[in-house]
Amino acid sequence: MTILQGKVALVTGSTSGIGLAIARALAAEGAKVMLNGFGDPGEIERLAQELGAMHDGADLGDAGQIERMVGRCSDELGGPDILVNNAGIQHVSPVESFPPDKWDAVLAINLTAAFHTTRLALPAMRKKGWGRIVNTASAHSLVASPNKSAYVAAKHGVAGFTKTVALEAARDGVTVNCISPGYVWTPLVENQIPDTMKARGLTREQVMNDVLLAAQPTKRFVTPQEVAALALFLCRDEAASITGANLSMDGGWTAA
Ligand code: NAD
Repeated sequence: MTILQGKVALVTGSTSGIGLAIARALAAEGAKVMLNGFGDPGEIERLAQELGAMHDGADLGDAGQIERMVGRCSDELGGPDILVNNAGIQHVSPVESFPPDKWDAVLAINLTAAFHTTRLALPAMRKKGWGRIVNTASAHSLVASPNKSAYVAAKHGVAGFTKTVALEAARDGVTVNCISPGYVWTPLVENQIPDTMKARGLTREQVMNDVLLAAQPTKRFVTPQEVAALALFLCRDEAASITGANLSMDGGWTAA
């Protein structure tokens, strides 16, 4: 018997990286999944078929598109019972030259989108008396790094938002938590290497070992599958008392 049979999961930013690993883990336990995110249409179609999932291409920078996506998840799948706010983008730049449109985009996709999906999905979860909201925060929800002002602000915001909604939903069978990974080897990390090389005048090797893994005592990248396994655990009935938590999975980074 699969543990999420009959549950509907909406996983934002699930065409790649951590979100895709979470979508795979939830689907493997019987959840009906709605995928979201950008990418090659043929590849997304292949993924949707593989997982028996539906895909909605809503741009999470647009509140109207988020509303239509959550409406579709409700009308066509009867959910979400599980909401994973995972989509995220990064921009690396010193604050004084940080482009304001990049600031707005990082805040919109990493933080404000989770507000919209949550406010839209929570009423039905409350009515059913069961729900799980899992937000992908980051070690940057707890500590800072230079040149990532928007991302660090957004992720600290996700942690605060998570705690607040957890309190509001505590009596309704709905848990709200965030997972805070250290560096996970995904396209998001790979893509910021060139910018960091430029910003700090370093080689690719130096960025990987002296910048990215410098703060991670285990000296290895977290895997998307490790994050997915924790997200799946949070969806189990045994996790009913874990709410409002910010769960680190950072190889010891924030213990230092
Ligand atoms: P990724 O780049 O591999 O995936 C990001 C996903 O978000 C993709 O599916 C992409 O299409 C989607 N996306 C981006 N902009 C979107 C938009 N406007 N609308 C809809 N979807 C959009 O990244 P990842 O590393 O898997 O990151 C996933 C989450 O994990 C992010 O919130 C990120 O901040 C967080 N995180 C990542 C790391 C890491 O080291 N990779 C560490 C800590 C936290």
